[in-house]
Amino acid sequence: MKKTSDTKKVFIIGGGLSGVLVAVYLAGQNNGAEIVLVEKVPEKLGRGVAYQQDFINQPLNVVAGSMSLYEDVPDDFVKWLKANSFRYSNLISEINPSSFVPRKIFGDYVTETLKEAHRTYPGKFQIIIDEAVCISKKAEGHSVLMASGIEHYADHVVLALGNFPPGDIAAVTEEIRQGGSYFSNSWTDEIYRDLTGDEEILLIGSGLTAIDVVLGLHVRNFRGRVTMVSRRGKLPLPHFFSDESFVWTLPYRLPPLDLLKAVRQTIKSHPGLHWSLIVDALRAYVPEIWSFWNLSEKKIFLKRLRPFWEISRHRIPAESLALLTRLQQADKLRMVRGEVLELKRSHAGFEAIYRNGSARENAFFDKIINCTGPESNYRKIKFPIIDHLILDYKVVPDPLNLGIVCDADGKITNEDGHPIDGLWCIGPMRKAVLWETTALREIRSQARRLAKDIGS
Ligand SMILES: Cc1cc2nc3c(=O)[nH]c(=O)nc-3n(C[C@H](O)[C@H](O)[C@H](O)COP(=O)(O)OP(=O)(O)OC[C@H]3O[C@@H](n4cnc5c(N)ncnc54)[C@H](O)[C@@H]3O)c2cc1C
Repeated sequence: MKKTSDTKKVFIIGGGLSGVLVAVYLAGQNNGAEIVLVEKVPEKLGRGVAYQQDFINQPLNVVAGSMSLYEDVPDDFVKWLKANSFRYSNLISEINPSSFVPRKIFGDYVTETLKEAHRTYPGKFQIIIDEAVCISKKAEGHSVLMASGIEHYADHVVLALGNFPPGDIAAVTEEIRQGGSYFSNSWTDEIYRDLTGDEEILLIGSGLTAIDVVLGLHVRNFRGRVTMVSRRGKLPLPHFFSDESFVWTLPYRLPPLDLLKAVRQTIKSHPGLHWSLIVDALRAYVPEIWSFWNLSEKKIFLKRLRPFWEISRHRIPAESLALLTRLQQADKLRMVRGEVLELKRSHAGFEAIYRNGSARENAFFDKIINCTGPESNYRKIKFPIIDHLILDYKVVPDPLNLGIVCDADGKITNEDGHPIDGLWCIGPMRKAVLWETTALREIRSQARRLAKDIGS
């Protein structure tokens, strides 16, 4: 479809939270731009991977009071929940800003906000269910070819491709992959199919994704046992609520280990203050700290500090942790600090050989679920659109394999370091340049800025 007029056309690829926010913010500017939002999986429109219909028992990791789609209307989600309280009375007993509500409900809120914006701007805002498979630069602008064969042209293309399915660890061979009891991606109800409820399950990873699986098993009255293997063998820490806050006034442009020392000293010198308030105070400076570090400092962070940052920054509701603790006490959940070295098929399922601390152990499992989190190495992502970005636009994956090379505002650059006119990315795709870029708080402000940059 050629551009029909001089009107600015914006094509947003990916209908998860990031893509929806850009579309809604752009539509809200009502500046005449034509907006097209494309999502390849109909059920993921407005939901992406995190807020799918299935996630009734998995709570948001952030309280309702901090999940508004609009920075300037912080209570929008809570107000929406209150207006819809009867509809969710089977899922939430009480609505208040400090509730952790099921992620499906947040997905409903995003989806309905999108529908409302779509209704309000007829003719200027199109939603398409199709997969963008190829993107290339032509005289008419950026050409986006869909799996259906239709070609669109746009002045601006926003890539909101989000969280890619997790990559397999090295121990997962083709034989394991094909065996039927190994799940490479845990973000689907498929993982519960065929369970009898008494299995031995191995989860690779112990972060938020692994916890989602345990919660999903628990509500199904799972009686078997789960073993989580991860490098540090640690669960995320719980949220802590306080009316107090902390403002970081010390220098923060420090090498990683010096910054860690500064955080530890600050916690020590404020004995009355919960440590999490001090960690949270640093969050606003993370992009600056990340861009201040050179490549070897970033490597030090990733190797030595990342697991500690992840568990202290990406926290869980205290109720979730209490459940995990109870399961550990009842020997229904086992934490292993180490890594899976080898997986073999056995008569009943799998034999896993893993490192547990300094020991080498083995155990037998019926199912294995990969909970390592989204793949961010673009060389390993087998999506046609990614291949074209690398081949046709000469976009480069960053040296640490965290995302693609772009600037802090999401302008994608080519291999020579030049920004590609009209090609943008948002959300998890900006990880290489911002580090913290996956939560609503960051995505919301990126979308607002992007809509302003594109719309002006
Ligand atoms: C399990 C999980 C739980 C989370 N919980 C929270 C939370 O409680 N609070 C919080 O703030 N953050 C949470 N997050 C962080 C999360 O990353 C963001 O909140 C947000 O969901 C990211 O949205 P996104 O649109 O960038 O990515 P995604 O949700 O991954 O959406 C990307 C969409 O793009 C589509 N797509 C991809 N390629 C194409 C293509 N070529 N053509 C068309 N469509 C395409 C995909 O189908 C998908 O729907 C969670 C993340 C995960 C994985």
